[in-house]
Amino acid sequence: MYEGPIIDGHTHPMLDPAGQIVAVPHPPQAYRAIVSGSQVRRAAAITIAHQDDLARTRARNSAVLRLAEDSGGFFFPVCSVHPADGLSALREIDRVAAAGAAWLKLHPNTQHFDVAGPEVLPVVRAAAARGLPLLFDAYSPWDANQPGKFADLAAAVPEARLILAHAHGPGFPQLLVYDVLARYPGWARNVWIDISVTGPMLAGGPFAEQFAWVLRKVGIDRVVFGSDYPVDDPLAAIRGVAELGFTDAEQAAILHDNAAALLVKEGPPRPGQAEQAR
Ligand SMILES: [Zn+2]
Repeated sequence: MYEGPIIDGHTHPMLDPAGQIVAVPHPPQAYRAIVSGSQVRRAAAITIAHQDDLARTRARNSAVLRLAEDSGGFFFPVCSVHPADGLSALREIDRVAAAGAAWLKLHPNTQHFDVAGPEVLPVVRAAAARGLPLLFDAYSPWDANQPGKFADLAAAVPEARLILAHAHGPGFPQLLVYDVLARYPGWARNVWIDISVTGPMLAGGPFAEQFAWVLRKVGIDRVVFGSDYPVDDPLAAIRGVAELGFTDAEQAAILHDNAAALLVKEGPPRPGQAEQAR
């Protein structure tokens, strides 16, 4: 049993009534009450930007930045822009990066954009230039080609650090492409996998062994824990990591070390360092 500190890399604390995503309100205090006395030491606080509503985007980004400060760093700010907002989105990235944003969140389903759309690349480049990892929702029931689009994006911007939330859901075997890409010296291994929702969903079932096998092929140093609170219960999600059959050392990497490394402001390993990093 892993007994060290845990970083929850994916939560949606409700900061205003419009931010409620499940039947009951889920303010930051509710999350903290659930994890109090647990091994959780830090948690992502995510917001998602709406298109053409810059005042609201700025206000919600400022709210997660404030939450991070008010919580003494327990929550780390995961700000958001809408790629279709163009230059305004890039300016907002500058603003939140300077204000201490940890990561940037983009959600192709909720924000209604195509990962291969021309508006996405400038946002990914701008985030990379400011050392901000990008947390993407990466399960689309409607865009079967989406996994390949993420691989393209990571190859196009090797200095970006992409975190793919939900591990492509039931399409998780698609992640094996990263095992193949890692054999090429030019590949920067700049893709991480957030196992929120999909991990607890598969734990204890017939796919659990396959999911763990695929993640080991990608590399356990690239796997990040998240609960997606309030969609899942954080403590059950933590138990799910052990239930997937990961060793204590693997749990330490998944539940803490890999996210901790993504909270350090620096670029991804350069091509050529891939083999040493593995
Ligand atoms: Zn989420």
